[in-house]
Amino acid sequence: MNAQTPAIPVAPPTASLTEAERTRILAKSALFAPPAQVDEHGRRELVGLSREELTQAVVEFGEKPFRAKQIWHWIYFQGARDFAQMSSIAKPMQAKLAERFTIGRPGVTTEQTSTDGTRKWLFQMRDKQQVETVYIPEEDRGAVCISTQVGCTLSCRFCHTGTQKLVRNLSAGEIIGQFMAARDSYGEWPTPQSETRMLSNIVVMGMGEPLYNYENIATALKIAMDNEGIALSRRRITLSTSGVVPMMDRAGAELGVNLAVSLHAVTDELRDEIVPLNRKYPIKELLAACHRYPGASNARRITFEYVMLDGINDSEAEARELVRLLHGLPAKVNLIPFNPWPGSPYATSKRAQIERFANILNDAGYSSPVRRPRGKDIMAACGQLKTESERAKKAAAAA
Ligand code: SAH
Ligand code: SF4
Repeated sequence: MNAQTPAIPVAPPTASLTEAERTRILAKSALFAPPAQVDEHGRRELVGLSREELTQAVVEFGEKPFRAKQIWHWIYFQGARDFAQMSSIAKPMQAKLAERFTIGRPGVTTEQTSTDGTRKWLFQMRDKQQVETVYIPEEDRGAVCISTQVGCTLSCRFCHTGTQKLVRNLSAGEIIGQFMAARDSYGEWPTPQSETRMLSNIVVMGMGEPLYNYENIATALKIAMDNEGIALSRRRITLSTSGVVPMMDRAGAELGVNLAVSLHAVTDELRDEIVPLNRKYPIKELLAACHRYPGASNARRITFEYVMLDGINDSEAEARELVRLLHGLPAKVNLIPFNPWPGSPYATSKRAQIERFANILNDAGYSSPVRRPRGKDIMAACGQLKTESERAKKAAAAA
């Protein structure tokens, strides 16, 4: 646990969702911890340190705490990547800082731009592990879809990332670094003071299950929300989970960002099969956690993601059951036409069927937009992300 993260006592709602369960999840997550964040010269990475950690690093270095405030401004507001840019710090001090610290970004292995403007990066971390990040532009704004893990433990049947076993968690710096590198790519520094930004939203919907890497995503999102830096409002951040119920309470209490829940099925029987985490946290417990999620209101609804799989979960009876399940929740439903990937076992629902499904939800008062697939030509659409790390590792072992 990060020293600065206050432990919020959240009363266990049912006997099965105890604090012990959260402790178990965090302990498991630690087994996949990222390597120490230092560069090849032994310099400590500053990107990804919380404000408290940065202040501590600066004080241990022998400087006053106000230096940390200056450095924070340069890194997260100005987008500086070099101490030499920090004009409010005297040159000799800049040089001393540069001996001990570094301000990095994930390395760009490839950058592809789709015919529809969607941009995808393959980023490489210091230990050569790779993840994908996608920028999805809209007319006057845009969301950066960031990854939280290399691979995923959760083998959802329709998801390409789920076929790649979990290699490791990303560090807070590697997580926020994806957003910063995306802003580098569009030159969106310093942080715009107006409401309009090109890179205006973060969606935590890339590779991995964010709530299985809680400490690091929490630190990264707190950095994103800090008003003296990137300054994204929590309303512009959406975290998607496949339903790690015990951690949903904690994310709600500590981060308060928008919640998206990958539901995808209305019976435990089917959800057990396509989202295997359901065997641990079944639909009833998942929905109870949604009812408890703080700040959910008609103005800030919980998004339920529902991948449309032809003949599997897309009947009208299932749409009606979904309406019944969502009763009383401030909810909207995001219908995601299944995006195929090489070897995927499903087909996308027919257009007319998706419309019938959506109409039932809309008639019941649930806004149910059909998500337009973006960046399909560059395999950047939902659920298509997967990196070669596993294969690369195997090849290296065989060599
Ligand atoms: N692990 C988190 C966030 C990443 S997945 C989660 O599961 O919520 C982001 C969204 O894409 C999820 O709703 C996921 O279920 C969906 N998705 C996965 N594979 C997909 C595919 N092949 N086609 C469409 N959506 C998919
Ligand atoms: Fe992991 Fe989400 Fe893909 Fe499921 S849908 S395998 S939780 S990334």
